[in-house]
Amino acid sequence: MPWKSVSTSALLVLAVLGTLGASARASDNQSSLDAPYANMPSIAPIGVRIGHYQKVPEDAKGPPVDPAKGYRLEQLGKGLYMITDNAIQSMFMIYETGVVVVDAPQAYADHIVAGIREVSDKPITHLIYSHSHADHIGGALALGNVPTIIAQEETKRLLVRDNDANRPLPTVTFRDKYTLKVGSQVLELTYHGDGHEPGNIFIYAPAQQALMAIDLVFPGWMPWRRFAVAHEPRDVFAQLEEIRKIPFRTFVGGHVQRSGTHTDVDRQIEFYGDLKAAASKALAATKPGEGLDPATVAENPWALFDDYIDRVVIQCVNDVTPKWQPRLAGYDVYIWDQCYSMEQSLRID
Ligand SMILES: [Zn+2]
Ligand SMILES: [Zn+2]
Repeated sequence: MPWKSVSTSALLVLAVLGTLGASARASDNQSSLDAPYANMPSIAPIGVRIGHYQKVPEDAKGPPVDPAKGYRLEQLGKGLYMITDNAIQSMFMIYETGVVVVDAPQAYADHIVAGIREVSDKPITHLIYSHSHADHIGGALALGNVPTIIAQEETKRLLVRDNDANRPLPTVTFRDKYTLKVGSQVLELTYHGDGHEPGNIFIYAPAQQALMAIDLVFPGWMPWRRFAVAHEPRDVFAQLEEIRKIPFRTFVGGHVQRSGTHTDVDRQIEFYGDLKAAASKALAATKPGEGLDPATVAENPWALFDDYIDRVVIQCVNDVTPKWQPRLAGYDVYIWDQCYSMEQSLRID
């Protein structure tokens, strides 16, 4: 539904605000808030509330979570399980004398021990942090006192900085690669540089052919805003290519409803490629200051770029929407963010 038609009440509010501010605004030659750019996409821009989101396609959904339990387990191979509340995901691995947990999300950390107890009575001996972000590891204390916590050294640096009692410091760190052998089970931890965040690692279970790499690929879904808050999209793109090379059967991305496959990784790479092409084309086709009051152009560089970037992003959104809106759950939620982020990366980095 076009945002203009459903935001009537918002426009009424703006009209009232407009009346209140009319004397101030009449003198500074600004266009009014209710006159959007030409070719405005029908998807609500950032900051406009429409109370309506596109339907989640079946292919993006996971098996249901039992509301009484608050989580579901998905076995990924011998002794290896994904645990999820269908919004965030982590893993655990059972071996002969213990359990290794990979991440402890705040959202369901209280259920992780119950999930483990469904399939094992062994103690938790190791906790691996994928990276430092609290949504993935901020529930660590719910696991009790875990003797060994493993993370990449940059993750430890960030956790020291964050000084958060809910995220205990790692007891073992590594730089490039760490192989955890426990009983007959193996996890290979590798660091591929700063993509999502410094210290974010890939966790690969070779026997199970399962790969966990967090906040990079979102199976069936539009990625979280601004390339999942990556500092630089091109570093994320490079890591997606690394992921593509790994011979996994199952992929755990850390968010949304289900586990993934190579098809999901390929689809996200294709989407990012289309986004990049659309933003490049829009940058090449757009002139700064065009249609803007010359006095504003002369004295207000922030306004000049605000208007220029808005017009680039509108073209980018319009370009990618026909192909990708039907194919990605939550497309409407973050497409504006992705185009703003891509535009910035291409223009200044
Ligand atoms: Zn993160
Ligand atoms: Zn995350």
